[in-house]
Amino acid sequence: MAVTGVFFHEMFAGAEWDIIGNKFRNFPGAMERQLRLPNVRLYRPEKASEDLLLKIHTPRFMDDLRRMWYYEGVLYSVGGCVEATERILSGEITNALVFDVAAGHHAERDYAWGGTYASCAGPAFWKARQKFGRKRFAIIDTDCHHGNGTRDVFRDDADVLHVCFCSMNLTEGNGTKVCVDSGWQTTDDAYLELVRREFITRAREFEPDMVLHKFGHDTCEGDYGDRGLTPEFFPRLANEINHLTRELCGGRYLVLTHGGCRADVAEEIFPRIIEILAGTT
Ligand SMILES: [Zn+2]
Ligand SMILES: [Zn+2]
Repeated sequence: MAVTGVFFHEMFAGAEWDIIGNKFRNFPGAMERQLRLPNVRLYRPEKASEDLLLKIHTPRFMDDLRRMWYYEGVLYSVGGCVEATERILSGEITNALVFDVAAGHHAERDYAWGGTYASCAGPAFWKARQKFGRKRFAIIDTDCHHGNGTRDVFRDDADVLHVCFCSMNLTEGNGTKVCVDSGWQTTDDAYLELVRREFITRAREFEPDMVLHKFGHDTCEGDYGDRGLTPEFFPRLANEINHLTRELCGGRYLVLTHGGCRADVAEEIFPRIIEILAGTT
């Protein structure tokens, strides 16, 4: 049976974060029932260290970041992603849902925008490789927007597959860095079909040790990146990728929250995603 880690810090529910607002205001209460499942563990992340962030970001970038009001949120978010990656690769947990504010896919090595002000995957993979040696990671990004930061951080890293569902079609890095135009008026079924064709087939060939999913829900109808998807879509997507990871890499699957400001959608989908990860649905 899978062991699922949920990484959440209470400070995530305490502020109006840029872009996503206070969508976690009712957490962890909204997932109370799921947190009581016998194979689900709640972790309160530690702050990521500045030394670790400096492995990815420039000193100038860090000097600016350190002065920002959201700095603590950044450190706890990155810290959760780092810890979850280590615990998954060590075999202590099988998979994880990692809550994230103020950090993520728009943070390049020396520039960041769009509500995400430091890299999560960069420090997490860097530290994991220090500890566990050469590891291959597949990143699927189904947030509405292009993951310019992720692309920048892993541009020259052939052991990272990055498939980004955004608004352009592009293949670079010998096929390990891919963007897919997911369309503005799509449907749940059409988007899932695109994920199968553009991510799942590539991931099978790539053979990663872990899959990291930048799980934005800004693509939901009524949200700021509305592509016409319904709230039902998101658990279906997680279920699909969860099955893939069981087939490919022992179920090692890290779901990292990303964009989307609809609190009602967050409250509906993330508890269900815990149930999927824990194998109870
Ligand atoms: Zn987005
Ligand atoms: Zn892209």
